[in-house]
Amino acid sequence: MLIKELATFLESIAPLCYQEDYDNSGLLVGSPEIEITSALISLDCTEEVVDEAISRGCNLVISHHPIVFKGLKNLTGSNNVERVVIKAIKHEIALYAIHTNFDNVLNGVNSKICEIIGLKNCNILHSKRNLLKKLVTYVPLSHAEHLRTELFNAGAGNIGNYSECSFNVDGNGTYLAGENASPYLGNKGLRHVEKETRIEVILPDYKEQQVLAALHQAHPYEEVAFDLYSLANNFSEVGSGMIGNLEHEMSETDFLNHIKLIFKCAVIKHTSLLNKKIKRVAVCGGSGGFLLQKAITAGADIFITSDLKYHEFFEAEKKIIIADIGHFESEQFTQELLQESISKKFPKFALHLTKQNTNPIKYLI
Ligand SMILES: [Zn+2]
Repeated sequence: MLIKELATFLESIAPLCYQEDYDNSGLLVGSPEIEITSALISLDCTEEVVDEAISRGCNLVISHHPIVFKGLKNLTGSNNVERVVIKAIKHEIALYAIHTNFDNVLNGVNSKICEIIGLKNCNILHSKRNLLKKLVTYVPLSHAEHLRTELFNAGAGNIGNYSECSFNVDGNGTYLAGENASPYLGNKGLRHVEKETRIEVILPDYKEQQVLAALHQAHPYEEVAFDLYSLANNFSEVGSGMIGNLEHEMSETDFLNHIKLIFKCAVIKHTSLLNKKIKRVAVCGGSGGFLLQKAITAGADIFITSDLKYHEFFEAEKKIIIADIGHFESEQFTQELLQESISKKFPKFALHLTKQNTNPIKYLI
């Protein structure tokens, strides 16, 4: 398989346009045309991980965190980032990162955390806006079903757990074909009235090109009438953090011990216990402090995340428990999630999980 084929798949589950502005996901080192021998998956791309790729004969490292984040001005090997990139290039190893675009999708980093904890009925905690479009078009009744199907196949008409969503209403379209026209129906120079269906479908922004291509392909008219406009709706499938419910409520201490065990935390930093049962749980892999108010508003009993600063703990205000479980600890299962997703699509593809624990933080207990 070529790198570009794997990248296309990864970007279908986590489109690059869903990454945060500051991020640098995608192919960082190497040509998309290279044939992959086998790939190594890791949360971080460190020198040790690149060494492991070399020794295991992998020519691609897929990491969650991008090694090149703020840009590179020199390649002299004076710091860890430069050394990793130099080593990768020297040994013809490509580097691919799937970072905040994987945090921000429904079946990404946070859904894996929810699955590990055992949360049910999970939703994105803070969904993004302005990522959806509406397409409205008008088509002769005879072609309406075919056109609808093609629009759905191109990625339109998905709302939450529902697919093939459209709104349809029949009416009369009129047109007068000019001298140079080749009308599919009616005659030149005469106003034609045709029974048409007005079809409305919703689509994610980034699928605009493929949906419009399908529209033009499946519509019989020479000139296709359509309206395409941006929606201000929240997109429930894209955004940060996630919230869900435990099947059975737990005491605060039992729940924290459960988290400590499953995430293999040496320590959990948390705010005062509130002497309440834990039922509703908000999570955000990595640095999630910015979502605290969202977690409170959504009625979470506890917010599991990492990288909180001292003063941020005060903001719990006895409304919620904040549990900082560590950045690496919170996102460690992203590796397994990547492996599962890729193997499901490409069962024969050689994939390995790194043997390195890349967590730069050690604990003195
Ligand atoms: Zn992270």
